[in-house]
Amino acid sequence: VPRRKIVASSEVEQSYIMIKPDGVQRGLVGEIISRFEKKGFLLKGLKLFQCPKDLAQEHYKDLKDRPFFPKLIDYITSGPVVCMAWEGDGVVASARKLIGATNPLQAEPGTIRGDLAVQTGRNVVHGSDSPDNGKREIALWFKEGELCQWESVQTPWLIE
Ligand code: UDP
Ligand code: MG
Repeated sequence: VPRRKIVASSEVEQSYIMIKPDGVQRGLVGEIISRFEKKGFLLKGLKLFQCPKDLAQEHYKDLKDRPFFPKLIDYITSGPVVCMAWEGDGVVASARKLIGATNPLQAEPGTIRGDLAVQTGRNVVHGSDSPDNGKREIALWFKEGELCQWESVQTPWLIE
């Protein structure tokens, strides 16, 4: 199989995916990572991380005037999260589909929230809502050098 050109990351769509503290506490880390791996996206960054309050507030700044904001910040900072950067054409919208609706009771079976959660306030996973926010959030949660440039041996078998 011919080798494909390795494209610079800035040209490729990326999504920031985060397993929230409930997902970590409930032992769902492997299950959730596995869904993105099996789909065929490329893992560019991964870490277990205790989120400081100011970072949680910055990440969710668009929601700062909502009544649930203080509880949301307490939730996200209540224990370690798993931070991930996933890459691939269409990854942002596709990851949102894999994750399912914000309210897990409305999320379709087969989605992460549809299969693994029951409440909006404990919905186990975050996914960026636009390619621009994907870049913004990855820059917020990862430092320079924490992302890996690599090519998966699967790529030629996933992308023609
Ligand atoms: N959230 C909440 N109560 C609400 C709406 C949202 O606790 O009524 C939390 C929930 O954890 C959600 C996060 O705030 O995942 C961000 O909300 P958003 O509307 O962006 O949902 P998402 O993009 O995560 O599906
Ligand atoms: Mg959102």
